[in-house]
Amino acid sequence: MGLLSGKDVADALKECMKKDVEALKATGVTPTLGIIRMGEEPNDISYERGATKTCESVGAAVKVFALPRDASQEDLLKVINQANNDKGIHGVLLFRPLPKQIDDNAARAALLPNKDMDGITDGSMAGIYSDSGAGFPPCTAESVIKILDHYKIDVAGKDIVVLGRSTVIGKPVSMLLLKKNGTVTICHSKTKDMQKKTQAADIVVVAMGRAWSVGKECFKAGQYVIDVGVNAKPNGEKGTCGDVRTDEVESLVAGVTPVPGGVGSVTSANLVCHVIEAAKSAL
Ligand code: NAP
Repeated sequence: MGLLSGKDVADALKECMKKDVEALKATGVTPTLGIIRMGEEPNDISYERGATKTCESVGAAVKVFALPRDASQEDLLKVINQANNDKGIHGVLLFRPLPKQIDDNAARAALLPNKDMDGITDGSMAGIYSDSGAGFPPCTAESVIKILDHYKIDVAGKDIVVLGRSTVIGKPVSMLLLKKNGTVTICHSKTKDMQKKTQAADIVVVAMGRAWSVGKECFKAGQYVIDVGVNAKPNGEKGTCGDVRTDEVESLVAGVTPVPGGVGSVTSANLVCHVIEAAKSAL
């Protein structure tokens, strides 16, 4: 299999989404994403551009609520409430990290879990851990599952090692893999013998945010490696790189996602999938 292209996964998702949007539009509903942004942070602008392009490509709409970076918490909560109460907005993406004058917990708590498209509210997180089906998982964590599904990489009964335990990626992806009957080991910065664990696994999900930090010494033939990391290249070159040294791993393992062109390519498509699901539920 070699490189597991995220673009191919995103393209397949978009084809399904186009049909769903067409069906929704026939009932008079245009799935609409509300984006709440404070200021013009380059990462936010770039994610907004990608999400807008994906929405447009499948016929969904986007409404941007742009606040100045120095807006008050009251202003932000007002906009969140406005988006919550707007029946024409089916899902909301709130860019974080928020500026320092904003209490992140208060902002997360203000967003309705059923409008939370990126699994940031406690209600959405509870849905993942309780299997209640409430809310949506974080888009990136779920993109890992969509990649495995697309390439028909069976998870049930497999030994899976997840490197990283953040609430955005490591923990939710571990729960999603567990739900698919994988046997999951979560590693973090205090884990002992991490290399032994990754070498023994069938699937390794790498989400440490450590550029090019794992290479062939951590893997063996037959494994699948999903690299979630997006980092500045440590050699000063322009562009981003993953946590995995893909060039030395690609010929060893059964399949590895590249960076760029892997998990990141699926994330914004998955975000729009959530908006469409939310629009269907609102019908
Ligand atoms: P994070 O909050 O910094 O968490 C990193 C995790 O990795 C922590 O649990 C940390 O352990 C663990 N870790 C760090 N160094 C380690 C080491 N040497 N050995 C073992 N574990 C180690 O990062 P994050 O938000 O989860 O993001 C992870 C990566 O994914 C970043 O590169 C980020 O840019 C990328 N990302 C990609 C997308 C996408 O669309 N592809 C979206 C979001 C994020 P401790 O808990 O012990 O500190």
